[in-house]
Amino acid sequence: NRRIVLASRPAAAPTPENFRIEEVAVPTPAAGQFLLRADYLSLDPYMRGRMSDAPSYAPCVEIGGVMTGGTVSRVVASQHPDYQEGDLVMAYTGWQDYALSDGTAATKLDKNMPRPSYALGLFGMPGFTAYAGLLDIGQPKEGETVVVAAATGAVGSVVGQIAKLKGCRVIGIAGGAEKCRYAVEELGFDACIDHRSDDLPQQLKDACPQGIDVYFENVGGKVFEAVLPLLNVHARVPLCGLIAQYSGVAPNAALLATLPRNLLTKRIRMQGFIIFDYYQRAGYFAEFFKDMSAWVAAGKIKYREDVVQGLENAPQAFMGLLEGKNFGKLVVQIA
Ligand code: NDP
Repeated sequence: NRRIVLASRPAAAPTPENFRIEEVAVPTPAAGQFLLRADYLSLDPYMRGRMSDAPSYAPCVEIGGVMTGGTVSRVVASQHPDYQEGDLVMAYTGWQDYALSDGTAATKLDKNMPRPSYALGLFGMPGFTAYAGLLDIGQPKEGETVVVAAATGAVGSVVGQIAKLKGCRVIGIAGGAEKCRYAVEELGFDACIDHRSDDLPQQLKDACPQGIDVYFENVGGKVFEAVLPLLNVHARVPLCGLIAQYSGVAPNAALLATLPRNLLTKRIRMQGFIIFDYYQRAGYFAEFFKDMSAWVAAGKIKYREDVVQGLENAPQAFMGLLEGKNFGKLVVQIA
């Protein structure tokens, strides 16, 4: 039973020294518990926040504690009346082979679902984030221009495709020519711009002749600097993530100083959200699941996974995620 713990807190971008792999005994379930063995571990940008002790919406991982993470796991032993050996479960069991659960924050999945790892992406937290953030906060209307950053990732790829389904013109922003080509040719975006190019502001302006009505913010930093001047009157900005800033890169102070005036004069609605709140909205996840299932069945949503083999490779893969080395939803196949 291997587990990856937080060895130290990163000062900036995480390094291999911040993680440690340990070997421990497989635990035995007590009454009311069951033992899970992880098949897939989800790697997500929010985990960078859990490595820091700065105040946040969720508690951080303690030094020596197992790294937080969602998994798709199998029940291998059970002392719980509602869980049988062989059941497939999505739970937050962390970066480890085995974990005990009492069913809290665990969701039973269809045992025969064709691609269980999708419960960590398209049909799980990232897909739901794209759906709720775009539709509830972004409120895209037919003919409007929607811009999405980290456009080929777990969240961004779904945001852009839903916006296309709603009849919008969709411009992606992604890192590198290959990701941009994929966004246009495979995902059906109208254009996609490489955020590493020197003239990102001009390219974005050229791609958005009518300005920007919805900007789905995943990134912050230079990308937001290019977007802000192009936002239209009454634009909506679902503020989902700021990955360019997670490891301590400071936002541009001059730009920040202009933000309130921009929000005021253009009557822009910029709203941060944490997806966990939407799980509390009665029936909303079920509505998402139904819509997404229908779109996927009709071939209207495409989805790409970046599958890394082996728990021991999770730290490297996670560090890569924060630098754009993943191409699609990053998951680790453990078993
Ligand atoms: P992705 O699969 O999109 O992977 C992260 C991507 O971010 C990288 O592939 C890279 O794409 C991009 N990126 C990394 N560093 C930079 C940088 N410095 N500048 C620009 N782009 C960068 O991850 P997710 O889809 O899981 O997450 C996307 C965003 O959504 C994150 O900010 C995450 O924190 C946020 N999120 C928020 C939630 C909420 O509840 N608010 C829930 C889930 C996710 P590229 O190579 O194209 O640059």
